[in-house]
Amino acid sequence: MSGAAPWTIAGVRAALAAKKISARELAAEFYSRIDRRNAELNAYLTLSPERAYAQADRIDAAVSRGETLPPLAGVPMAIKDVISTRGVRTTCASKMLEDYIPPYDATAAERLERAGAVFLGKTNCDEFAMGGSNENSAYGPVRNPVALDRVPGGSSGGSAAAVAAGLAVAALGTDTGGSIRQPGAFCGIPGLMPTYGRVSRYGLVAFASSLDKIGPFAGNVADIAAVTAAIAGHDTYDSTSAAVPVPDYAAGLEKPVQGLRIGVPEDYFGKGLDPEVQEKIHAGIALLERLGCRRIPLRMPHTDYAIATYYIIATAEASSNLARYDGVRYGLRAPGATLTEMYRQTRDRGFGSEVKRRIMLGTYVLSAGYYDAYYLRAQRVRALIARDFSDAFEKVDAIITPTAPTTAFRLGEKTADPLQMYLADVYTVTGSLAGVPGISVPCGKTRAGLPVGLQIFGPHFSEERVLQIAHAFEAAGGFSL
Ligand code: GLN
Repeated sequence: MSGAAPWTIAGVRAALAAKKISARELAAEFYSRIDRRNAELNAYLTLSPERAYAQADRIDAAVSRGETLPPLAGVPMAIKDVISTRGVRTTCASKMLEDYIPPYDATAAERLERAGAVFLGKTNCDEFAMGGSNENSAYGPVRNPVALDRVPGGSSGGSAAAVAAGLAVAALGTDTGGSIRQPGAFCGIPGLMPTYGRVSRYGLVAFASSLDKIGPFAGNVADIAAVTAAIAGHDTYDSTSAAVPVPDYAAGLEKPVQGLRIGVPEDYFGKGLDPEVQEKIHAGIALLERLGCRRIPLRMPHTDYAIATYYIIATAEASSNLARYDGVRYGLRAPGATLTEMYRQTRDRGFGSEVKRRIMLGTYVLSAGYYDAYYLRAQRVRALIARDFSDAFEKVDAIITPTAPTTAFRLGEKTADPLQMYLADVYTVTGSLAGVPGISVPCGKTRAGLPVGLQIFGPHFSEERVLQIAHAFEAAGGFSL
């Protein structure tokens, strides 16, 4: 990014209100940045200038009428390409949906528009959000703007890279097993996975329905709070969205963290954790202690089973959700002499190898004879992992862990070995299975200049608390963009 301070949501509002810039000019500035950088980063798959300028013009008209501006007025945003956007191609980074143009907006997108945001375009990701490096996209990998030979993390790699490179002020991602928190950590920006049910999934193309969450990336925690406030809340279109009131997240940010009990589970500091990452996380915990938090050692004994449990449940749900791509109802259809041949050809050409692997795994663990041994058992272990969290929250207000065991790895480093890729999710999938909120906040950089993310989990619907701790940490550490 250039020497100028990055745009923030508050900065955009102030500049618009003072008529220093119009929303249209701001959108144009971001499109010229995208022009300069996107060929190299591959963060955006589709740009939506028509929609962006129409949104910007509505904001400019409101400014000229002297109206009170909505909370995200004129904020240039990117949206992960698994979230439906009316009139704007939504591919899920898959050949299967290469030409799919949704006729409606996901609730989260609709709420962002209502809050005044400007949609620059749709961001690259792992195909159907399956991956942890953004290398599973049918449209090529995303590069990490911090180090171009490295992955941005995944699956929401395009959204994270866009924000980190200054090609959007904020972005929506989705997190099923870590896909907001891990790319946030790898690219050096905060990213929040809200509580399951906090944000409507209506219009989100399903991967694993009991785990999928939509959440924000931004350059700082206050902006994360602003975007979360705009998209959170009950939605009659999603029966799993919760009718829990949405607090004023911005107002809670400045509350002192003095006296809060932070749990540090030793299970998250074992084999596989990079020593330099560990050092940074310990320094981060020490910083929280200096802010007055009380450190409490914890055991979360089922942590070791989380990867296996997650990959059974996520693939089972994926195999069911992806059955709909049959060449009849959506997207691609490959010709075939018989109906079965048409299904086979369509799914063979439309899906990439990771998606196929998961459909096969998921079908296997759900099949008669294996259901009890795998799927049912995984559901039981999921309950035990959730109990680790609820037991911990009897004693502590938040749990602090590393977001990922390593910093951003090199492109191609783990593609040959899916198991190695899955192991990178070891610290994020626990919270996903439990359905609790988790944020990754920047926690300094290694000697090689690679960002480290610190993860903060809270009890269900405690986003306000999680954001408050993250904000205090960011302010004290000077870790924002
Ligand atoms: N890396 C995890 C997976 O591949 C998480 C993906 C996600 O959160 N969408 O399933």
